[in-house]
Amino acid sequence: MASLSLRHINKVYPNGFEAVKDFNLEIEDKEFIIFVGPSGCGKSTTLRMVAGLEEISSGELRIGDKVVNDVEPKDRDIAMVFQNYALYPHMTVYDNMAFGLKLRKVPKPEIDKMVREAAKILDLEKLLDRKPKALSGGQRQRVAMGRAIVRNPKVFLMDEPLSNLDAKLRGQMRIEISKLHQRLGTTIIYVTHDQTEAMTLGTRIVVMNAGVVQQVDTPRKLYDEPCNLFVAGFIGSPQMNFLDAQCEVSGDKVLLNVGPAKIELPPAKAKKLIDGGYAGKTVVLGIRPEDVHDEPMFIASSPNTVIEATIRVYEMLGAEVYLHFDYEGANMTARVDPRTTARNGDTVKFAFDAEKIHVFDKETEMTIT
Ligand code: ATP
Repeated sequence: MASLSLRHINKVYPNGFEAVKDFNLEIEDKEFIIFVGPSGCGKSTTLRMVAGLEEISSGELRIGDKVVNDVEPKDRDIAMVFQNYALYPHMTVYDNMAFGLKLRKVPKPEIDKMVREAAKILDLEKLLDRKPKALSGGQRQRVAMGRAIVRNPKVFLMDEPLSNLDAKLRGQMRIEISKLHQRLGTTIIYVTHDQTEAMTLGTRIVVMNAGVVQQVDTPRKLYDEPCNLFVAGFIGSPQMNFLDAQCEVSGDKVLLNVGPAKIELPPAKAKKLIDGGYAGKTVVLGIRPEDVHDEPMFIASSPNTVIEATIRVYEMLGAEVYLHFDYEGANMTARVDPRTTARNGDTVKFAFDAEKIHVFDKETEMTIT
């Protein structure tokens, strides 16, 4: 069993900087957990504490049912893949993968079997005699993975393993890593600042900011039900649109006033604002770009969520178009069908999908609905 348990983990660096604050997480066997967040949020520090490369200031770390706070990295039954693959340049691919096993005095035939198996999984069989300098970035990356696989660890730790690759290769390697996880069935903890990587790879995602865990959830839940403004803005690309709105309550109706527009909330959402005492207050309305529609049909059927704006930038991406515009001081984006007739300078009506509107408390930044 390779479950992990992080309980009240804190990290204070010697200079007094609190990099990780009260981190709590139960990881089940075979989970693919992602730590994601902006630069400096403490994700690598947390991973390095799990690896044993960084001392835990306080709290308890368990792997399986064993407390490992004071266990040496080499005895933790984990393998780590870093962003700079740290391959030995003078060794062949085969020797790079075999090196750790040789050090541990594993018999030669067994080493051979393990290396060849890993090479097969990673499609490196034809490259075993090459030196790293004769490999592409993606191939080097796979060798680094291979070196981790042959150790047959209970847990894989990966720190931005794809960040040195170009966008296309990153996309391919994402799929490779996903397959690898299914095939090996090991627990993986993976650090990235790239939310696309987080969304596509993780079974669960831990979103961090300034050393503090913001939300732990499945990709779907994080996307649909972010717990606060930070998570809502961080997950999703292009990011969620945010508008300051005045909350007007009349009877059981709630209108969010944004400039000249009065956006009516559906009953269940309206009730949350009424019950929360938001009448007359300023709140933050959030709407994802794909929930801002320019089709006449949608606008006609949603007359109570319509705004009007002038297109600043028409951005054609092939399968979709981003329409960028300013509305009441906010930069907004609508992700629309490429058949749209809207172009730069046009004044366009947009309707929000009312059921997809998020509302946040302006002061606490927590989600209201
Ligand atoms: P990135 O994506 O940029 O790697 P990260 O989320 O992985 O960021 P960490 O490397 O965990 O961030 O660093 C968290 C914070 O701790 C940062 O503000 C960093 O400057 C600080 N930090 C890291 N190492 C030390 C150290 N040895 N002493 C003091 N502060 C440190």
